[in-house]
Amino acid sequence: MPVHFASASDVSRRRDSMQDTVDVRSLPKADAVLLTVADGMGGAAAGDVASRLAVEAAAAFLEERAAPEQDHDAVAVLLQEAVSVANAAVRADVEQNPSRAGMGTTLVLAWVEEGWVTIANVGDSRAYLWHEDELRQVSEDHSYVEERVRAGRLTREEARIHPYRNVITRVIGTQDGVEADIITRSLAVGGLVLLATDGLHGPVDDAAIATLLHGADLEALAQGLVAAANQAGGPDNIGVAIARSEA
Ligand code: CA
Repeated sequence: MPVHFASASDVSRRRDSMQDTVDVRSLPKADAVLLTVADGMGGAAAGDVASRLAVEAAAAFLEERAAPEQDHDAVAVLLQEAVSVANAAVRADVEQNPSRAGMGTTLVLAWVEEGWVTIANVGDSRAYLWHEDELRQVSEDHSYVEERVRAGRLTREEARIHPYRNVITRVIGTQDGVEADIITRSLAVGGLVLLATDGLHGPVDDAAIATLLHGADLEALAQGLVAAANQAGGPDNIGVAIARSEA
């Protein structure tokens, strides 16, 4: 398997419950790696239920549907279906447990094969690609502030400290249908895919993240990202998953 992977998560310095869920696994039938990160929301422990259900449902679906020789168009369709399956799983749980009404979660999936990656995104967790010092965010945040940045109404700097920076505009679990953004990119040898919740990309800016992605040991890189988020105040749960295409 030429794609290696690692993950790390932490409740953070400032929070006392964990609502992020991170999953990394190989899909041997497809010779692929699946990274999944979700950031749950909803009071009374519901956020952790939402993120866990969404991740488990999506990953189980993709594991079952993985097969040899799927091109990225086929994978794009599968990822969109996986997001729908995750949404249905959270909705079904709310029906059984009305006290959890309103719970939801972000969800970002990355299907990584040698040479390419396809990403599905709902919410404001992020997918980045890193190669030779350069970090690029490839997902688009579904958030109030990001929509205003794109419309030219806020600068990136203003968005980072805006009081509504946590308001997300697309989410898994709060309505019957949900559509993910699907993005496919080529992945160079030595290139990294990073998925992260806002517990990382809130307190740690992209330039700092880029410098933390040097090094051979992926486990150490993942732990280093979590440590940096905590050193920057650790305001929120931190979840990261990384994969690297290796020679
Ligand atoms: Ca969060």
